[in-house]
Amino acid sequence: METQPGNQPYVGRFAPSPSGDLHFGSLVCALASYLDAKAFGGEWLLRIEDIDPPREQPGAKRAMLKCLERHGLFWDREVVYQSQRYHLYRDALHTLASRNLIYRCSCSRKRLSQLRNEGKNAYDRHCVYTPPPPDRAAAWRLDLNRAQQLLSGNPLNTHFEDVILGAQHYQLADQGDFVIHRKDGLHAYNLAVVVDDLAQGISHVVRGADLLSSVGPQHILASALCRALGTAPPLWRYAHIPLVTAQDGGKLSKQNRAESIDASPATNNIQRALAALRVPVPEPASIEDMLNFGIRNWQPKRLSGVSRIEYSAVPSSRHP
Ligand code: GLU
Ligand code: ZN
Repeated sequence: METQPGNQPYVGRFAPSPSGDLHFGSLVCALASYLDAKAFGGEWLLRIEDIDPPREQPGAKRAMLKCLERHGLFWDREVVYQSQRYHLYRDALHTLASRNLIYRCSCSRKRLSQLRNEGKNAYDRHCVYTPPPPDRAAAWRLDLNRAQQLLSGNPLNTHFEDVILGAQHYQLADQGDFVIHRKDGLHAYNLAVVVDDLAQGISHVVRGADLLSSVGPQHILASALCRALGTAPPLWRYAHIPLVTAQDGGKLSKQNRAESIDASPATNNIQRALAALRVPVPEPASIEDMLNFGIRNWQPKRLSGVSRIEYSAVPSSRHP
């Protein structure tokens, strides 16, 4: 087992967005982060990322909590709801603004998609040179040039080690000045995640591989914010879980999800999720026994080299 950098206690989290019910892919991610935390003797926190009300499904939050409980995945501490923490995100925006690290951007969707079509993935900083009038609705973007100046003498380390994927690297130039507060007035995902991961003392981030590209923006933002606050930057450890796909490699959807996880017995779902995570499949037993078996047998490196996890409706054959 790896040692903890700086003896930081292990604090992990599962951070679903309530845009729908938990499906098998989310159960796999929840289970992976749970097993990892428990295998290290750490805490496992639950954070509901409900900062996008228009995309929220009524009843989804309660259903998620119930679903996790039904699968024996009990979290430590109180559930954290991002919708109750807007004041923290606003404070972070003020901190960044006080150091001139953010600027307003009123570029239209059309202009931004044109940039993308021209192959320019990074924002062209149009609004740095042509600031929008104060009364126009605008997003806020992180000014990467200013952030790098602030961090000079302590340059960003753009290399990181993912427990599953191995050595990873992101290019600063590819990130561009990303949005941290949306034009429609909503807080952006990256800002909320960074503020909360810092505030909750998260040490390990175990989540789906679809979020691998968020590491760069989140690391830059966290470093800039900590520097502005005069605090030590975080040492987050990462494990990105291969995505669960339908058998044809496509996205899991209601159509190809023969069985929803709500419809089948929790023990069956846990067995399948353990198999998906390449944990030797235990004999059918109580949920608690199967989870304990999973904790003892959890080895995330078994997922190294797995490009995707194929969804199967029945518990797959036992792994040796
Ligand atoms: N809320 C994000 C999602 O459901 C996950 C955030 C994270 O784990 O960093 O996709
Ligand atoms: Zn702009």
